[in-house]
Amino acid sequence: MSAVGRGGATGSDAQQVGFDEAWFAERAQPAIRHLRAYDPGHDLVALRQRFGEAALVELGSNENPYGPSPAARDAIVSELSSLHRYPDPRGGALKRALAGRHGIGVDNILLGNGSHELLMQLAQVFAGPGDEVVFSQYGFAVFAIATQAAGATSRVVPALPLDAGMPLGHDLDAIAQTITPATRLVYLANPNNPTGTWFARERFATFLQGVPAHVIVVMDEAYAEMADTGAATDARPLLARHPNLVITRTFSKGYGLAGLRVGYLLAAPGLVAVMERVRESFNVSGPALAACEAALADEAHLQGTCARNAEQRAQLAEALASRGLRVLPSQTNFLLVEFGDDTARIESALLERGVVLRPMRGYGLHRYSRISVGNSEDNRRLLAALDEVLA
Ligand SMILES: *Cc1c(COP(=O)(O)O)cnc(C)c1O
Repeated sequence: MSAVGRGGATGSDAQQVGFDEAWFAERAQPAIRHLRAYDPGHDLVALRQRFGEAALVELGSNENPYGPSPAARDAIVSELSSLHRYPDPRGGALKRALAGRHGIGVDNILLGNGSHELLMQLAQVFAGPGDEVVFSQYGFAVFAIATQAAGATSRVVPALPLDAGMPLGHDLDAIAQTITPATRLVYLANPNNPTGTWFARERFATFLQGVPAHVIVVMDEAYAEMADTGAATDARPLLARHPNLVITRTFSKGYGLAGLRVGYLLAAPGLVAVMERVRESFNVSGPALAACEAALADEAHLQGTCARNAEQRAQLAEALASRGLRVLPSQTNFLLVEFGDDTARIESALLERGVVLRPMRGYGLHRYSRISVGNSEDNRRLLAALDEVLA
């Protein structure tokens, strides 16, 4: 192969035709060559331009419509005089606040630029070519991307059937049986996105007892704050007994700070120390650190928004069901809804009316859409548009 590429092109020809994505993909590391980028659903910036922000009902990204604590905004404003400074590379103050909040040590915590970053780094650190990573069908999309980017092999375990007590949920028995000596990592989400499904901690405790210690079990609890099941699903009490357990959390959902990009993981200090080796320096910005610390202190705001979400979730689920639609159970801020054969038509007709849902084709759930639970006005507008479209 020529050192300068096909046809002997030189660097100065780099703008010319031929140097497309496929050309560069051939030069990428094997793991990256066939990787498909995370699909954010729609081009929301373009849609906002087209409809105007006020006219758009954005129910495609599981954002928190109530926004963060006002204390978080104030903390960001206070940080504005320090923008020329690097942030605390260790995120010490936020970690101390999190340690107090979760009743664990500061050295049990790693901060990420969103939990997405941490999910990627876990595979980067603990899995590689020849290794297997186990997760459920319809598990969070990042699990597959992280595995593939690390060059490891995905072992995708069929989800529970639609007629199960928890339709499309994680089949923990089958997941346990898929673990082999080649398994390095298991990714679980509780509750899971995009299915909204969950399982009890008691059930998970039994599962963990059967997992060999060499396998790291990652429990993504992005929606933990929003689950009414609260203590019954929360895996934190299992951390002390299981050094191979990692719990990821985020400020993007319950805390309403998706725009700041802050997530964190809770794990054994040794695991955190190894993960630190690949963490980018200053991966969480100064304003983000300050805002999250303030948000954490405003428990009343968190509880208030989660209660409103739960109330709206129940009302929206009932309204959709009363229109003859199947709505899967959810402990999150979204609902998985079956539109059946008409799914693509309904999604595009809603989009024409400025209502954005998340198509599920990428997950292989062609008959379903994921609808984030908005505030009462968002949900009213969604239902009005849906009634037009279904008429
Ligand atoms: C939204 C979500 C996250 C959060 O990602 P961030 O990078 O922290 O914004 C993680 N896991 C799941 C399952 C999610 O739905």
